[in-house]
Amino acid sequence: MTRLAVTMLVVAACAATSVHAEDASPYAAITIPLNIDQVPGKPVYFSTGNPGVPGKDNEGNTSNAGFVITSDGVLVFDALGTPSLGWAMLREIRKVTDKKVRYVIASHYHADHIYGLQSFKDHTDAIIVAQERAGEYRENQETADEKAGQRLDQRRGALFPWVDKDTRVVPPDITFRDRMTIALGDKRLTLLYAGPAHSSSDIMMLVEPDSVLFAGDIVQNGRIPHMNSDDVSTTQWLAALGEVEQLNPKFVIPGHGKASVQAKQAITFTRDYIQTVRSAMETAVQNWTDFDVAYEQADWSKYRDMPAFAANNRGNAYRIYLELEQSRFKADKQ
Ligand SMILES: [Zn+2]
Repeated sequence: MTRLAVTMLVVAACAATSVHAEDASPYAAITIPLNIDQVPGKPVYFSTGNPGVPGKDNEGNTSNAGFVITSDGVLVFDALGTPSLGWAMLREIRKVTDKKVRYVIASHYHADHIYGLQSFKDHTDAIIVAQERAGEYRENQETADEKAGQRLDQRRGALFPWVDKDTRVVPPDITFRDRMTIALGDKRLTLLYAGPAHSSSDIMMLVEPDSVLFAGDIVQNGRIPHMNSDDVSTTQWLAALGEVEQLNPKFVIPGHGKASVQAKQAITFTRDYIQTVRSAMETAVQNWTDFDVAYEQADWSKYRDMPAFAANNRGNAYRIYLELEQSRFKADKQ
């Protein structure tokens, strides 16, 4: 064989492996495909996660995420709960368009929405955007919000092999405080700080002219939300829901649960739940009733059979009990 022929063979072999390598997941592959839908008539797509809590049965796919295709590239909202899921999302984007991924927006820094950022950081040139308090979420730093390092350790067990020793928290590239507008091609994307409500760094994103709202965990539909982080403020959360209502979007993609053309219905679900827990706990705080007693006495029948009730409801009630107790102490002092 001539040297040229050998070189050509080597080149051919390399080309073949690189094409193959691009398709194969660099992370443990998921076995349950993403559930992707398109907002009717709009270049906006979203993935709907399982309603339960992250575990091996759902491979960590419990949150929603989505992407907007503009005339000048793609913008992604949230990255799902494992690098493997982030990679699967990237594959879904590639099925629809070969345009560059320009931005990834993180609705807030909680494990189930951000471990997929690693895929976008390592395999695209996208800029990661979050609210400034997302910067507090570091593996080696204790914050009032979810304890990032502890959570990562827990997920390395609970979601192995999709979360493993190489999984890392990818910090945002740019942050903003109250509001940021991204003009990309034919779309205008408005990012609005809505926290601290469900977490310290909650944001929502309005896609115009399509009137589609990515609400992050401010809106959760048909599932008991997770409120057990030190930064939860249900007072601020209710205010943020009021803000969503004012924006009056045609289509809402919540952080968890079904997306809806009936935006009002999804908003109402979250608000009713928060108000139910608040009123049960408010009475308890006013009467100096012990939390355990108050929890047992409360009527949970409306929510008992919903996904994530067992995992989240008691912690939520306790969190709200503390929040109301604190505001009572403040009121008493004044
Ligand atoms: Zn969250």
